[in-house]
Amino acid sequence: MAAYDYDVIVAGGGMSGLITAAAICHYSKQKARVLVVDRNPHSEPGKKTINGWTCGDAVSKRSVDYLADNIGIKYGSPELEHPVEGVLVYSPDHQTKVLFEGEGFILNRKILPKRQIEDAKKLGVEFAFNVACDRLYSEDGFVRGVTGRNLADGSQFKKTARMVVDAAGNATKLRPNIPIQSKIELDIDRDDLESTGRYIYDFEVSEDDPTWFDSRYALIHLDQFIAAGGYAWTFPKGKNKVNIGLGVQKKALDLRNAKFGKKDGLQDLIDQYVKMNRAIKNPVQSADEQDRGNTKGSWQVSVRRHNDCLVANGYAMVGDAAWMARPIDAGGIGPSIYASVMLGKAVAQALEANDTSEESLWQYNLDYMKHHGYQMASFEVLRRYLQTLSNDQISYGMKYFLSEEDISSIVNREHPRFSRLRLLNPAMMMRIAKEPKLASGLKHTADVSEELITHNMNYPEKPSGFEPWKKKLTTMLTEAFAKF
Ligand SMILES: Cc1cc2nc3c(=O)[nH]c(=O)nc-3n(C[C@H](O)[C@H](O)[C@H](O)COP(=O)(O)OP(=O)(O)OC[C@H]3O[C@@H](n4cnc5c(N)ncnc54)[C@H](O)[C@@H]3O)c2cc1C
Repeated sequence: MAAYDYDVIVAGGGMSGLITAAAICHYSKQKARVLVVDRNPHSEPGKKTINGWTCGDAVSKRSVDYLADNIGIKYGSPELEHPVEGVLVYSPDHQTKVLFEGEGFILNRKILPKRQIEDAKKLGVEFAFNVACDRLYSEDGFVRGVTGRNLADGSQFKKTARMVVDAAGNATKLRPNIPIQSKIELDIDRDDLESTGRYIYDFEVSEDDPTWFDSRYALIHLDQFIAAGGYAWTFPKGKNKVNIGLGVQKKALDLRNAKFGKKDGLQDLIDQYVKMNRAIKNPVQSADEQDRGNTKGSWQVSVRRHNDCLVANGYAMVGDAAWMARPIDAGGIGPSIYASVMLGKAVAQALEANDTSEESLWQYNLDYMKHHGYQMASFEVLRRYLQTLSNDQISYGMKYFLSEEDISSIVNREHPRFSRLRLLNPAMMMRIAKEPKLASGLKHTADVSEELITHNMNYPEKPSGFEPWKKKLTTMLTEAFAKF
């Protein structure tokens, strides 16, 4: 058997790469030799771009608990910077609020990777910092390593392994250039990416208005004018500290600018959103050492279902490299945690079986789809539909068409069934008559959602079943989108 430098190379030491590396070591009982390669220097792990660790920083308690329960990694202070009782979504008119998620935390994403590296090192993970991975290296139809450049001294970098995990985030250079035959989709549609940005501010409270700032809740504001095709957020990091920002879809923003004769870009909108926030006075970028270099930044996030196939011979993807952020709210930390743990287990099994083929790694596709990813295609449909609605329609729909049952589905990360639209009582018929297109659109997304979830729960057990499954999925999605 060929000798490799490592059993596994994880390209990218961010949220998902660091957890995957630790999970592989955990499940292989520390027998696997795992190298994490990251372009950042050792002093700045997990940094996404030169602007910092740009994120809204919100994560659910259940994701953090999943990590602790499965691989024994527990986070605490200071990386869990501020606890919240839930995520509240406000309608554009601020009249209706929906609890979108239960308890959670606002993280300090600059501090967390340092903690994650300590955890990974204890499990035996090795690190190569300052190395940018450019390409995957292949032999005999298998990915067997990475090549790149050492950014500190300019030298070439090449290491081999029995397999490579691509955890290099949204702008990975590895997946689009995979050098072997695979079932992996290489590129993403521009409309499935959101441009997002945020500040971390200290501020004085100007007005006690919990619809604009509430230290107990992460607030999401739906508003197609200020955050076209996306949403804005005000996430508390304390009583006078906030992570505040928004995301837009380029196509929706272009339409909004044309409609209102504006030329606003992402940064203009973020600044306008901060200004219109009634609770925030005199915001200043946090001067805390824990936030230095991380108080203003923008980056992109995907809002489609994850890549329909996550593995190939000697290769697997996780986190933003695999478009795992939830299509409905761009939350990618939870999916990264779940997928990284599942991938760690599948890789350890593949190494134990001495087989890192697509077929051997397939269990990861199945585990992720059946335990977490099955909702994502239906959320992609709902996201596309919501992007077609006006502020008035969103406010009306949230006020009249969402039932308690829908809200509890949303909290449980399930697609709402909009069952009120199925009950033909006279009051509801009058409301539907006022917005018939909105009502039928919402009902359509709920119906399609059920079909998509059933299809995803029938994800093929083996690679041989993938093509017909994918063909049917593509047809279902094309038909669903055609109705909007
Ligand atoms: C503005 C914004 C707000 C967000 N808010 C939230 C939120 O509130 N809650 C939530 O759940 N999600 C949120 N997300 C999404 C979340 O941040 C991501 O899903 C998450 O960071 C994904 O982790 P990752 O490890 O896959 O990728 P990343 O965090 O991007 O990590 C990638 C790592 O790979 C390294 N890397 C990249 N290229 C190379 C290369 N060529 N060679 C070597 N190393 C490389 C990078 O240096 C980095 O360390 C937000 C995203 C943005 C942009």
